[in-house]
Amino acid sequence: MDNKQQLFSMPDDAKLTLLADLIAFQSVNDHELKVAQYLQQLLQQHQIKSKLLPITPTRANLVAEIGSGQPVIGLSGHMDVVAANDRQHWQTDPFKLTEKAGKLYGRGTADMKSGLAAMVTALIELKENQLPQQGTIRLLATVGEEVGGLGSAAFAEQHYTEDLSALIIGEPSAHDIIYAHRGSMDIRLTSQGEAAHSSMPEKGFNALHPLLEVLTQAKHHFDAVTITNNSLGKPTYNATILNAGDQVNTIPDQAIAEVNIRTIPEYTNETVTALFTKLVQAQNRQGALLHLDVYMSEIPIVKQADNSLTKIARETAQKILTIAYQPQASVGVTDASNLLKSHPEPDFPFIMFGPGDYRLAHKDNEYVEKATYLAFSTVYRELLVAYLAQKNTD
Ligand SMILES: [Zn+2]
Repeated sequence: MDNKQQLFSMPDDAKLTLLADLIAFQSVNDHELKVAQYLQQLLQQHQIKSKLLPITPTRANLVAEIGSGQPVIGLSGHMDVVAANDRQHWQTDPFKLTEKAGKLYGRGTADMKSGLAAMVTALIELKENQLPQQGTIRLLATVGEEVGGLGSAAFAEQHYTEDLSALIIGEPSAHDIIYAHRGSMDIRLTSQGEAAHSSMPEKGFNALHPLLEVLTQAKHHFDAVTITNNSLGKPTYNATILNAGDQVNTIPDQAIAEVNIRTIPEYTNETVTALFTKLVQAQNRQGALLHLDVYMSEIPIVKQADNSLTKIARETAQKILTIAYQPQASVGVTDASNLLKSHPEPDFPFIMFGPGDYRLAHKDNEYVEKATYLAFSTVYRELLVAYLAQKNTD
């Protein structure tokens, strides 16, 4: 390579084959191992070493690196997708990439196999061009982002995140560059009672009543919360699942509720756990048998809107896509909650930036614009080169 015009780029048909192959793997909340093995093989063809990190027999994270030394830039994408729901609502086979009028349809085209494919392509193109000369680019492909974030949690536990100097998550970001999102918690409350005929309730114990007390008190509590984050707004609380009783004249012996809470840095996940612990203990002191299970807890992420990655991402998007991307906060949670646990500093360079529109995520007839997908590997490649050039001259 003697000049920039001759940089190796993967041909468009190879990029489309890559995305079509990824869409064909039905990695619906499981079976990401197939995706990971496929990517490992592709990377191997370009002399990029990678490692599979098994989570279960059918699920494995994938980590791959190019370059060496500091800084270490993380590129992260998830390999799972949500279910395709009712196939009748799809105009095409959700697991067969289908092109129509410049759009590529299929489950995961937006969320987020196109972002993952563009990151992998960028990695290959950089490697083929003997880049980066200084610094490391680490691909962190995760399992289970859509349910619980177990892949990103495993990466954090296995020490793949402490040495990161920057992180890009390739989730669909429309024309935004996301620098902040709320946290998310899933909580299950189980109440144990004793069945009895409803004409003699004193012979049993109604499991539903103390549970309803807790749900209502929590609702009143959150209604009164005035704490707000400038980027993210207030925390939110929603009771979403309730199961109790099976006959109208029988005192229910068990009641189960689930709630989802969205947190902000000023109202943390710990605060929520403490609140529910207090509410449950108050009921249990009066004879209830309530059990609290916080089974998912992902922290809020708020970095500076003008961190060093957002600036370069804006310039690169303007140059390659000729679109003015804007820094924004998002409501949805990402793997950054786990991947950035060891990087609380507000000026840490983080962006969620990828092809596709987040408003199409999880919907029937999900698609990504073909031109956007094809351009995004170049966007990532140039962004990484520009970021490393700046870092290495700092
Ligand atoms: Zn996603």
